[in-house]
Amino acid sequence: MNHSSPFQQTFRQPFQCRGVGLHSGQSSEMTLEPAPQGHGIVFERSDLEGKPKIHARFSSVVNTFMCTQLGNNQGATVATIEHLMAALAVCGVDNALVRLQGPEIPFMDGSSLPFIHMIEAAGLVEQSAPRPFLRVLKDIRLEGTEGRFVQLSPAEAFSAHVSFDFGGRQGMGKYIGYFSGGLDAFKKDIASARSFGFYEDAQKLYDKGLSLGASLENTVVIDNGKVMNPDGLRFDDEYVRHKILDAVGDLYLAGAPLQAAYTAHNPGHEWHHKLLQALFSDPSAWTYEEKNG
Ligand SMILES: [Zn+2]
Repeated sequence: MNHSSPFQQTFRQPFQCRGVGLHSGQSSEMTLEPAPQGHGIVFERSDLEGKPKIHARFSSVVNTFMCTQLGNNQGATVATIEHLMAALAVCGVDNALVRLQGPEIPFMDGSSLPFIHMIEAAGLVEQSAPRPFLRVLKDIRLEGTEGRFVQLSPAEAFSAHVSFDFGGRQGMGKYIGYFSGGLDAFKKDIASARSFGFYEDAQKLYDKGLSLGASLENTVVIDNGKVMNPDGLRFDDEYVRHKILDAVGDLYLAGAPLQAAYTAHNPGHEWHHKLLQALFSDPSAWTYEEKNG
């Protein structure tokens, strides 16, 4: 996380991109605009009547199957927000209006790196209000079957320690990843890690109307335990690095940078949503804090 500024930040200038959505397969234009302090990250469905807005908060989550999808009480939705949210989190963007001409954030290359490059090119400005941090005060842990868990624990700075196990599927094993530090470390070790999936699952997802935009251009595709992408993997353990990327994006739905240690085994979007629900449902588990410049 970018803890370098004790003040809230937004973009110096608006910027645009266009790309295909992973699940819809539709190309959408996205414009990211500066927003005033205290505004937070807000999505706008500019293609819908009345241009409904959806706040980037855990309480807006409406679906966590294969991506994180947000919605408002009028039924407007925005899907696959997690990779953009990860970029906004690590760049230290507190306030932004994300105008979207479609139902889904452009998937780009399946990672966060293109968004980080665009944010860096636009530049950031400090605002006068202090940035609130969300300090976790006690362990919050959720457990599932076969050792699956997600946990937030008190810590002075954000870190992520994740293990991901394919469980022997197609002969694939377990990967362990760790991240701590700021934007530079994230760019080097995590940001370029892409989404992944099995070729044999693709048809089932297509039949459900999902992954229609998936291709070897934006997804690591595994078949018979081998990577089908002609250029192979970006890291030998790209899978677990991407799991960390997804966690950073999903957890930014807390609405502020987290001061916590995140640990998990086989996490997913649903678990991150439940983890934030559990955290916020216990008022003694967290507090907002400001830092002195
Ligand atoms: Zn992802």
